[in-house]
Amino acid sequence: MTTEPSKAPPLYPKTHLLAASGIAALLSLALLVFPSSDVEAKKTTLSLELESPAEQLTQDQDAAETVQATNEPAASPFAQIEDSAEDTKETAQAAPEPVVEPKKAPNHKEVIVGKGDTLSTLFEKVGLPAASVHEILASDKQAKQFSQLKHGQKLEFELNPEGQLTNLHSKLSDLESITLTKNDKGYVFNRITAKPTVRSAYVHGVINSSLSQSAARAGLSHSLTMDMASVFGYDVDFAQDIRQGDEFDVIYEQKVVNGKAVGNGPILSARFTNRGKTYTAVRYTNKQGNSSYYTADGNSMRKAFIRTPVDFARISSKFSMGRKHPILNKIRAHKGVDYAAPRGTPIKATGDGKVLLAGRRGGYGNTIIIQHGNTYRTLYGHMQGFAKGVQTGGSVKQGQVIGYIGTTGLSTGPHLHYEFQVNGVHVDPLGQKLPMADPIAKAERSRFLAQSQPLMARMDQEKATMLASSKR
Ligand SMILES: [Zn+2]
Repeated sequence: MTTEPSKAPPLYPKTHLLAASGIAALLSLALLVFPSSDVEAKKTTLSLELESPAEQLTQDQDAAETVQATNEPAASPFAQIEDSAEDTKETAQAAPEPVVEPKKAPNHKEVIVGKGDTLSTLFEKVGLPAASVHEILASDKQAKQFSQLKHGQKLEFELNPEGQLTNLHSKLSDLESITLTKNDKGYVFNRITAKPTVRSAYVHGVINSSLSQSAARAGLSHSLTMDMASVFGYDVDFAQDIRQGDEFDVIYEQKVVNGKAVGNGPILSARFTNRGKTYTAVRYTNKQGNSSYYTADGNSMRKAFIRTPVDFARISSKFSMGRKHPILNKIRAHKGVDYAAPRGTPIKATGDGKVLLAGRRGGYGNTIIIQHGNTYRTLYGHMQGFAKGVQTGGSVKQGQVIGYIGTTGLSTGPHLHYEFQVNGVHVDPLGQKLPMADPIAKAERSRFLAQSQPLMARMDQEKATMLASSKR
């Protein structure tokens, strides 16, 4: 397994596994700290019960070694919960049988797409010859978009007194519809996209059972709830620290078409009170066009480093100045943290930086070393391979996937060996007080405050109004 057996590597990682009890905290961090898009992609949802098992990391690593590695987060506070609210579109239109509704005018007919329907069957239902479908679709290249039918979709036909189709119209979503209109030469296809107006909306919630339930009750969508957890995830441990009575205010962008909310934009500002301590967040887009969240007074919400480079990993070996090495059977320092995860699991850069090495390095196997500013350096070992485009001399962003879990080099099983150095000295990444990312640039401070102060004031006002009206 060793690639360069002659060369004694400075560190000897091993995959021994902690009992599941300690994993909850890690999972929570891993889940919350990464961009919410990633989290959503996994269809994982927050279920942050108050009685979350806040067990401590077990200290008894030897006893824990007998525990089998499973990727099942049994004690995880993150249970799978159903997709809520967001999918109303699907549920609303249960299974309407195709119905012909000649109600608007004699020459206006509507059909709902049912099971097994094709454009031909629908044409027949409104009295058009099935053969005319071909002619109509052939008249415009894009017209075949009408043949991509979805169950529950409504088609509206306008017929002239001779029974010919003059217009075909279908709404694809609140924002999009398609039409075919007859002219002298044939049919012309059109796609109409409604441009939603954007307004800001406010919600206030108090937690009494779980964050996800309280947020849903307050009217915050699931994805905005995840966004909020991600915005505050550097400061609040949503798995273990949430208490009854915690509260939140959120102002977010809402997209509206014809008075109807059709989607959400980002959170513009938020406030979260956890166990009496209030955290604020304001989204700010700087002059270069980069958006980020800051506290109301302009400090970054983001830390310069995320806690864990691997989602859903368990710590299999902690930082230690002396431990018995599994292969060499000698007492050796373990100057990093091992994260056990299945082969191929993505590994993320914990901070922005420059890639000093993306290559093989002795017992570390495939290794990436990243320099972060002048002070910090991180190392990722035993990787199966590197992510596309990550190479020595390049630069990476916080959270960017740099490679994948493997067991290259001197390693007993798939895991990441992760090191953190401060001015050349190895430190325990789990014990570090993480440095803050940069605050608002001086040159942008007044512009930032001009945005943040009204948002904060509005949250105060809206909340006061809301509480006053609920007392009445
Ligand atoms: Zn290690």
